[in-house]
Amino acid sequence: MNYAKNILETIGNTPLVQLNHIVKDLPCKVFAKVEYFNPGHSCKDRMALQMVEDAEADGRLKPGGTIIEGTSGNTGMGLALAAIVKGYKLICVITDKQSKEKMDILRAVGAKVVVCPTDVEPEDPRSYYSVSKRLAEETPNSWYVNQYDNPSNTKANYLQTGPEIWNQTDGKVTHFIVGVGTGGTISGIGKYLKEQNPDVKIWGVDTYGSVFKKYHETGIFDENEVYSYVTEGIGEDILPKNVDFSIIDHFTKVTDKDAAVYCRKLALEEGLFVGMSSGSAIKGLLQMKGELKPDDVVVVLFHDSGSRYIGKIFNDDWMRERGYLEDEVVTAADLIKN
Ligand code: PMP
Repeated sequence: MNYAKNILETIGNTPLVQLNHIVKDLPCKVFAKVEYFNPGHSCKDRMALQMVEDAEADGRLKPGGTIIEGTSGNTGMGLALAAIVKGYKLICVITDKQSKEKMDILRAVGAKVVVCPTDVEPEDPRSYYSVSKRLAEETPNSWYVNQYDNPSNTKANYLQTGPEIWNQTDGKVTHFIVGVGTGGTISGIGKYLKEQNPDVKIWGVDTYGSVFKKYHETGIFDENEVYSYVTEGIGEDILPKNVDFSIIDHFTKVTDKDAAVYCRKLALEEGLFVGMSSGSAIKGLLQMKGELKPDDVVVVLFHDSGSRYIGKIFNDDWMRERGYLEDEVVTAADLIKN
């Protein structure tokens, strides 16, 4: 018989899929590492399991314990799968910016969800950073994961996703591009790929309203760069320890509107029903067109599934209210008419 002993054994080994239409203006081949094939439908399953197993190994997480994390949803889903299989409780602290689907999904897999306001300073006692820390102090036998600074986050991508990309491209990958939030994905994969071939270029995709690009270019943490934005999962108002700025060659910023529009294009033109940060990643790549040559082999990573954004990106009213729907975008209504 060929089977997995539990759902955690199905994490990883996601497919690499060539993009054929959306990249037609680029001179080279582009492949997408499609992470929604993980059981929790995102890349974060990998790091969630790694963080849990490393914490079990050194005694930070004890039998019957409670896992506590400030998570935008995808890490929470990965932690929930690990908690179910391994017998832990889970509390997810989430901001009110996150889609309702993400909160409902977390509850469906047994997590207790605490919602905090988005537009407060990280130091504010109501912020999701502060609330998660406080809950961890007050809850007996609990472990605060802290995906931002937890090295197991980068390690999971260094040990798994990086080697997968290298092997799937037969070592031919020349550029890797991905959205950056905690930094675990870009830092782990980037470090592995650069160890195999120091010439591989690593490009990070940032949002408007986030500090990464400016900090990378100037070394200055500029608070003027911080304002609220819509894109989920990427960009930060802090500098997480998991962002290894030394392995990132360049950051490009993508607007919320472009992220939303290109997310829809990926579904319509490639059949890839992915989340908003994947729209950011593909648009970020198109913005880098001038740096690419015909023999280049680009890998772009798509973090999660469009199913988490049904009420947002894939809802015409939500898109229209924000001015994201324009003539060039095919709406559901247009499709029915045609
Ligand atoms: N996209 C989505 C949808 C995410 O949930 C995350 C994780 N915050 C990212 C991108 C960024 O990944 P990382 O935290 O590894 O930088």
